[in-house]
Amino acid sequence: MKQHPYQVMITDCDHGSIEEEREEFSRIGAELTLVQVREEKELISVCKDADGLLTQYALFTRKVFENLPKCKVVSRYGVGVDSIDLKAATDLGVIVTNVPDYCIDEVANHALALILALVRKIAFFDRKVKSNQWDFRQGVPIHRIQGKTLGLIGCGKIGLEVAKRISACGAKVIAFDPYVQKTTEEIELTDLETVLEKSDFISIHCPLNPSTRHLIKEEEFKKMKKKPFLINTSRGPIIDEKALVQALAKGQICGAGLDVLENEPPDLESPLLKMENVILSPHVGFYSVESISALKRRAAKNVSEVLMGKWPYTVVNQEVFGKTRAPIPPHPGVNEVK
Ligand code: NAD
Repeated sequence: MKQHPYQVMITDCDHGSIEEEREEFSRIGAELTLVQVREEKELISVCKDADGLLTQYALFTRKVFENLPKCKVVSRYGVGVDSIDLKAATDLGVIVTNVPDYCIDEVANHALALILALVRKIAFFDRKVKSNQWDFRQGVPIHRIQGKTLGLIGCGKIGLEVAKRISACGAKVIAFDPYVQKTTEEIELTDLETVLEKSDFISIHCPLNPSTRHLIKEEEFKKMKKKPFLINTSRGPIIDEKALVQALAKGQICGAGLDVLENEPPDLESPLLKMENVILSPHVGFYSVESISALKRRAAKNVSEVLMGKWPYTVVNQEVFGKTRAPIPPHPGVNEVK
């Protein structure tokens, strides 16, 4: 029987095919096994011989790391690593890596699609036409995008792409991001108050953390002088959903386009489901055939790089530099972390 120099396991994943991963590991002669386990006990018993692990939702506790003596790298399919005890990984010399930018285009396009659909009332008209009502006057007034202002909350990778797209439609872009000092020509950085007051559309692109949870609540809705459309493709709890429903009911905002909600899926009783000026999608912003394929290829490559003695594209626990279990240069020097 052929002996493989490395054992790689996929702890769990909900994408059907693992063709991209197979291709990557056959390139380095590693054996790949998909095991579909998520719990501590099973992870320990099934993955103990793995040199590298790919994972989606499995919980990597300290106990798991302590019982995977060969594991050199854990690669997460996606951005978030809250399922992984990073401190434990670092203490035991395991590199944790992720894929932070596989769906920038998809989410930016989704935010733009929501803006366009809200402004042009596409979902509203679609419902009318399909119920035999052919009358554009049911949707008046509609305003043009050219000359209006889009306010971004969060001006990172996705925010920048949304800015490019809406600029091409002739809108001005202002942005609030406390961690960005300089940005592109088309964006004017400002404070949150100004974004709330001056925007005709507000699009949220900051991460969810304790300081952004309910960043948009009753007080902020009151400051939205131009009755904007509010778009959220980031994380649901950034908006206080009760306050959002109130703001929509009172007409403080013109409508909302939401790919993410506080509760996913929403309660069937949620008033948002009944509002004509609300467009919802089921947290699908990240998805395209191409983005998922890229995610799989890059998550796999992050593991194969480590097994081949190189640093992966991203290292989440950079404190592991200089003390990895993998035979690898102490720091990403020759093989830069980009
Ligand atoms: P990014 O890290 O490149 O950008 C996030 C920006 O938010 C950063 O510039 C950061 O400085 C800023 N920020 C942090 N705290 C802030 C605050 N309190 N107020 C304003 N700005 C703040 O991330 P990204 O790739 O642009 O992704 C943005 C978010 O999109 C992610 O955090 C994620 O929640 C969400 N996302 C959603 C989907 C989806 O399927 N809908 C897919 C991918 C990402």
